[in-house]
Amino acid sequence: MNSPKQVRAASCAVPSGGRYERQLWMKQVGSRGQKKLSRASVLVVGAGGLGSPILLCLAAAGVGTLGVVDGDTVSLSNLNRQMLYVTEDIGQPKALVAKQRLAALNPEVRVEAYPSRLDPDNAYALFSAYDMIVDATDNYSTRYLVSDAAVLFDKPLFVGAVSNLHGMAFTVIPRKTACFRCLYPKSPTSAMAREERARGILGSTPGIIGSIVAQSVLKYILRYGDWLAGKMLLMDGEDNRFDLVPLERDHACRVCGDLPTITELFSMNMDSRQSSC
Ligand SMILES: [Zn+2]
Repeated sequence: MNSPKQVRAASCAVPSGGRYERQLWMKQVGSRGQKKLSRASVLVVGAGGLGSPILLCLAAAGVGTLGVVDGDTVSLSNLNRQMLYVTEDIGQPKALVAKQRLAALNPEVRVEAYPSRLDPDNAYALFSAYDMIVDATDNYSTRYLVSDAAVLFDKPLFVGAVSNLHGMAFTVIPRKTACFRCLYPKSPTSAMAREERARGILGSTPGIIGSIVAQSVLKYILRYGDWLAGKMLLMDGEDNRFDLVPLERDHACRVCGDLPTITELFSMNMDSRQSSC
């Protein structure tokens, strides 16, 4: 930590009072970095427990264009963890409420709401309009679809996943680092997915992992630091343990491998829900 004298000297040298004042003070951001953020566009699939902190962090930081894909409506049981919503939003489409909240937080950010499910038919139009994609969903069928689309359409993908007090985050740079199918070539059964969901979740878990995913997105836009490409951050929130595990791209992967067999999108239909922890 700097001495009070150093802090005073540093803070005198930079502009003060603006919305982005505190991040403009960072040498990793500055006015050049802020311009990069304002020119960037990010599509977030899933506006639930993970999508909430991710969208709030990206909007607050001034990421110029945000897309929100979620076909779900707000329900009472969402409110222990989905921080974008309040009690009176129950029954409203999440994507539309999210757009309102984010616009209120930062009117300088353009927010596009897509209140529908991501599917193989709309994925290309949605993905091609954005620089990068965030997977903030909570079910395997959508995760495979998002990851396949990111590889096929060559978009960097930032992934977060949570359950109970545990979570993980990693980043896919298509055909350079491991994709979701490299890591999970065999999809889990519906029973396994149901069992995972039944473990429940504490709202702070997606809060932490969502913030880590948002931070990876911001660092990637700024081209500064480590944005978790080719490695997975694992959190054991029970014992406050964080581990960083290297990920290997699978050259036999069906979508990003040397001889891919998946060359177009398809729906795995493992369950009916799309959003969002
Ligand atoms: Zn792969």
